Amino acid sequence: MGFDTSGLLPLSDALQGMLAQLDGCCDSEQLPLPEALGRVLAMDIASPLSVPPFDNSAMDGYAVRLADLAVGAPLIMAGKAFAGQPYQGEWPARHCVRIMTGAPVPAGTDAVVMQEETQADGDRITFLTTPVSGQNIRRRGEDIREGASVLAAGTRITAREMPLLASLGIASVPVRRPLKVAIFSTGDELKPIGTPLAHGDIYDSNRYGVRAMLDRMGCDCLDLGIIPDNPAQLRAAFLKADREADALITTGGVSVGEADFTKQLLEELGEIGFWKLAIKPGKPFAFGRLPHAWFFGLPGNPVSAMVTFDQLVQPALAKLAGQRFERPLQLQAIAAEPLKKAPGRLDFQRGILTQGPNGLEVRSTGSQDSAVFSSLSRANCYIVLERERGRVAAGETVTVEPFGGLLL
Ligand code: AMP
Ligand code: MG
Repeated sequence: MGFDTSGLLPLSDALQGMLAQLDGCCDSEQLPLPEALGRVLAMDIASPLSVPPFDNSAMDGYAVRLADLAVGAPLIMAGKAFAGQPYQGEWPARHCVRIMTGAPVPAGTDAVVMQEETQADGDRITFLTTPVSGQNIRRRGEDIREGASVLAAGTRITAREMPLLASLGIASVPVRRPLKVAIFSTGDELKPIGTPLAHGDIYDSNRYGVRAMLDRMGCDCLDLGIIPDNPAQLRAAFLKADREADALITTGGVSVGEADFTKQLLEELGEIGFWKLAIKPGKPFAFGRLPHAWFFGLPGNPVSAMVTFDQLVQPALAKLAGQRFERPLQLQAIAAEPLKKAPGRLDFQRGILTQGPNGLEVRSTGSQDSAVFSSLSRANCYIVLERERGRVAAGETVTVEPFGGLLL
């Protein structure tokens, strides 16, 4: 508060600057459909057939010709059509065909009358309504026409795409190989979980958060563990990541402390931009490239690391992986309590969004200090407060962004 924020880079500029430099870097391979879950389509998929592949009944009932009904007398049932067992017999005049949902309609059918609108007396069927031409018939190609584009390159295959592709009989799909991302944490104070802490130590939490988010994105993670604040060991880790991965994500060591060696090493090994972003949390952030791999340096503070990954690294990795990325929805909600905010940075406060009597309401999770990690796990959304906005009074409208796929 009170410090000069005019030199800080807006989030949108940082994002644009990164995305302009990045390009898809993953080759494609053909995979059997069940193995392609979570992968990104490498090519557009056109439908090899029409769906449905034949005209069929949308109801259990009777297939009729309108001319037969015009007479006004009951029709005689000529036979039955089941799903998978079309009716192939004769269809004499003044007859109808009993038909089940999904069965192909016999040639000449004008409409299907649902069973509830008929009365059966043995084989004599009386129709209680006058059908309209085409009623209850699902037409060939009504859902998807043969040759039509069904999914675009860049689509991630989820449970929603699986049945669609299967309905088209597509047994294998062209997908991109997963993006390979190396990660490590930096800091002499960090200890891996499962080991005791000495005075001054803390557990390395960032690596588990980043791994979880990479997992959610379908990336292949090369975990290089914890690297102490030691230039020689950091250098070796950078070089290994550069040899083996498409991108490297580190946390910590990107501020201006005396143990922050990342900057000097990266200036020596590659091309690096260190940015002070106009967002809170997450001010220090580094982006650049090593000889082969892209580099993303997240702040050490756990909340800052998660937020910068979610907001900045996620869209960048999606681009590298050839995946179409959609910005999460932003909604308007009423602040149910006052929110602390100083002008100068775009805030991503952690909030709890609920449905109130008059619409969406949002509350703060409490301390918004970037080291208070528990605030993230209690939250279900960001409260996005504009850069120049000051303190928010209860009852004001604010923008909220429900947590997207990475944080759910
Ligand atoms: P740094 O950016 O290295 O100066 O770290 C900023 C703060 O975040 C310090 O309090 C660090 O101890 C803490 N921190 C850095 N890395 C991690 C990590 N991997 N897990 C938990 N806390 C961390
Ligand atoms: Mg550090």
